[in-house]
Amino acid sequence: MATAKGYAAQAAGAPLAPFTFDRREPNADDVVIAIKHCGVCHSDLHMVDNGWGMSIYPLVPGHEISGVVTAVGSAVTKFKEGDRVGVGCFVDSCIGCATRDLDREQYMPGLIQTYSNPQPGSDLPTYGGYSDHMVVKEGYVLSIPDNLALDAAAPLLCAGITLYSPLRHWNASPGKKVAILGMGGLGHMGVKLAHAMGAEVTVLSQTLSKQDDGLKMGAAHYYATSNPETFKTLAGEFDLLICTVSAGLDWGAYLGLLKVDGAMVLVGAPEESVSLNAFALIPGRRTLAGSMIGSIKETQEMLDFCGEHNIVADIETISIDQINDAYKRMQKSDVRYRFVIDMATL
Ligand code: NAP
Ligand code: ZN
Repeated sequence: MATAKGYAAQAAGAPLAPFTFDRREPNADDVVIAIKHCGVCHSDLHMVDNGWGMSIYPLVPGHEISGVVTAVGSAVTKFKEGDRVGVGCFVDSCIGCATRDLDREQYMPGLIQTYSNPQPGSDLPTYGGYSDHMVVKEGYVLSIPDNLALDAAAPLLCAGITLYSPLRHWNASPGKKVAILGMGGLGHMGVKLAHAMGAEVTVLSQTLSKQDDGLKMGAAHYYATSNPETFKTLAGEFDLLICTVSAGLDWGAYLGLLKVDGAMVLVGAPEESVSLNAFALIPGRRTLAGSMIGSIKETQEMLDFCGEHNIVADIETISIDQINDAYKRMQKSDVRYRFVIDMATL
């Protein structure tokens, strides 16, 4: 066992505070990573508050992890000391499951999430990236392209892949009109990625306060959802609408923005249920779908795509002792566009 330093919440909604815990001794197939940066995802906030009813405490959040390899087990072949690596939202899965071959392990029942997940053979939950180091199986470690800075690349491990995967699955490409709803951590990555894939991108944000940034990131159009005219102007407009909003909405109003056969994909995960009139879907043969992060293979593909297109997150770096204030600001949509913790401040 090696002692790790981190920050944890001890109970639902409790502020994060310093916490010392054990990490396992590396096995032959493990990589030991010195964590340099960790992005702050809105999921961390839902989990600290137990908003989805699945949290285990003490809870060390963090699944947008970047760092440097400090040691590898004897069976590790893909990584060596000094490599720049990332870890995302899960650190194990049931490799025996046939769906692994279909490259969808994030949807398997045996998925082990990076933090607050029970671990087979251990009394302790997984502990995440708001900490100094991690021990992770080689198959769940990603390579970060050399041209991407470790701090701004960290959010790619969740925000990046969470948008990349549905954009690819629903074929964002030239000729397609894609709307990104919510210009936060996930949303701003969606704008950059959909633009790089060649789609015509529209941002739907509560106000126009981030319009200049959105247009610079690649959006062709930017509308305020607080203005009722937006819903008239854009009725029937989009092939694909990806909703990154962390709160409940008037879902029917947004479905009305889809073309016939258009799809609205929820990646934002509000704590309350989604209710809907069936006629928001029926007349336009519309699809309402969900999507969760991406597989390891797809995450590496996304990182390589970002390397080729020089895409990283727009970040605000914080020290670890600013994390509770950062959560308050995130609750008010006051972040441009991702907080990233500098782990040297731990
Ligand atoms: P974030 O940075 O806080 O961004 C959310 C954005 O949603 C805000 O910036 C805001 O954009 C908009 N918004 C917030 N409250 C709103 C409200 N009441 N009404 C309308 N719009 C509102 O959060 P994030 O890290 O991007 O995460 C977003 C959601 O995705 C969270 O629920 C998170 O748990 C979930 N998530 C899901 C996955 C997955 O795999 N499916 C992965 C990661 C995160 P504007 O200011 O532009 O309006
Ligand atoms: Zn996340």
